[in-house]
Amino acid sequence: MMPGFDVLIRGGEVVNGDGRAVLDVGVTGERVTALLAPGSAATAEREIDATGLLVMPGGIDTHTHVAWPFDGTVTVDDWYSATRAAALGGTTTIIDFVPPGGGGLTDRCRARVEEAAAGATVDFGFHPILTPADARALDEIGQVVAEGFTSFKMYTTYEDRRVDDGNAWTLMRAIAAHGGLPGFHAENHEILACALDDQVRSGRLSLADYPHSRPGLAEAETIQMVSMYARRLNTPVYIFHVSGSDALDAVRAARRAGTAIHAETCTHYLAHDESVFHGQDAWRFVISPPIRTAGDQLDLWSGVCEGTVVSVGSDHCAYDTALKQAWEHDHRRIPAGAPGIEARTPVLWNQAVGVRGLDPCLFVQVSAERAARTLGLYPRKGRIAVGADADLVLWDPAHPWTGDDLRPVSPATFSLYDRAHGTGLPRHVIAAGRTVVEDRRFTGEKGAGRFLAREPRP
Ligand SMILES: [Zn+2]
Repeated sequence: MMPGFDVLIRGGEVVNGDGRAVLDVGVTGERVTALLAPGSAATAEREIDATGLLVMPGGIDTHTHVAWPFDGTVTVDDWYSATRAAALGGTTTIIDFVPPGGGGLTDRCRARVEEAAAGATVDFGFHPILTPADARALDEIGQVVAEGFTSFKMYTTYEDRRVDDGNAWTLMRAIAAHGGLPGFHAENHEILACALDDQVRSGRLSLADYPHSRPGLAEAETIQMVSMYARRLNTPVYIFHVSGSDALDAVRAARRAGTAIHAETCTHYLAHDESVFHGQDAWRFVISPPIRTAGDQLDLWSGVCEGTVVSVGSDHCAYDTALKQAWEHDHRRIPAGAPGIEARTPVLWNQAVGVRGLDPCLFVQVSAERAARTLGLYPRKGRIAVGADADLVLWDPAHPWTGDDLRPVSPATFSLYDRAHGTGLPRHVIAAGRTVVEDRRFTGEKGAGRFLAREPRP
């Protein structure tokens, strides 16, 4: 007689990054405790019939800005609403950021965990954002790595936070020494300044001009620089939101030279191209780096297939619609960013499997597995296996959707996919053994998500 499970998922096709098979999945407490041939005599408190569904590892969103502070206010979501939206989209882990600000880095990190823990319905981790001030308080790096904040983000542009080359080198060296993972918003500040200056002088500041104000060259230049630093320091490096061919080619070249460099891209770069800047409500799509050409988009898909792209983040940032819409005629004034935590997996699935005919295993690789491996969550997450967290998405590949089904995190914000349609949605979602979505309805609990303290590299 098999032991009784808390949950037994019967008859679904289990999809991992490296293969798929029809198996029953037994869950006890927070973990997967058995993978069984279908039709076993095992018993459980609760059985879920997954016939016709795919059972996939819960999605990992590597890039969110929940309840994000800007200009003295915060975005229109909170930890509960954002992680509820994540769960409805099939995402059971998010890695958000610790914003820069006053006080020490350790205090900022702890405060952010406290804020998230009170509301989050799924598990969460953080990439602390480092600024030049942190380059003068390097002791704190070792402290926060020891507390589980093992990946970091530095901006090489934006006046209020950008690191110069010296800061970047100093901070990377400290992060590497403690087994952490340095990461960058990589755009060369001076190249951006020149491009924008050209636009200002010729009066080209419409939304259609936006992509050209942040040329791909700026990304490529900075990626090349930080790759060289990473190689010299013998550390891996992570590049947030790679937007197109220039950046991707710089990543590929660095990999060929032996750098362990990992590129993240975002849902919107894989689903949209720059024609959105000529369409209705173009203001929505002001995000940096910009959404680029159809050729760039195609190349990003090559990056996904070849493994250069290790993760797809949403870059979720739920700006108020009124605020975002107010400056349609001057792209400089529009806050760059858009929500998308809920739409990430349905849009990615539809683009990968529906539109491009790619294998569901590849979807699992880019929606969860490679992120888990790169960011220190594997094998706990990113794979359905005995001993792993029971983060399971029961996916209905035949369920059609329109933009209305990709519920926005708040009525005060907007969607980048409201005119999109596709096929494939999560029907049930289990996060660390708890059912958080049942028949497309949210059933999770406020504050049940856990902080994921990640281990440094040895
Ligand atoms: Zn971001």
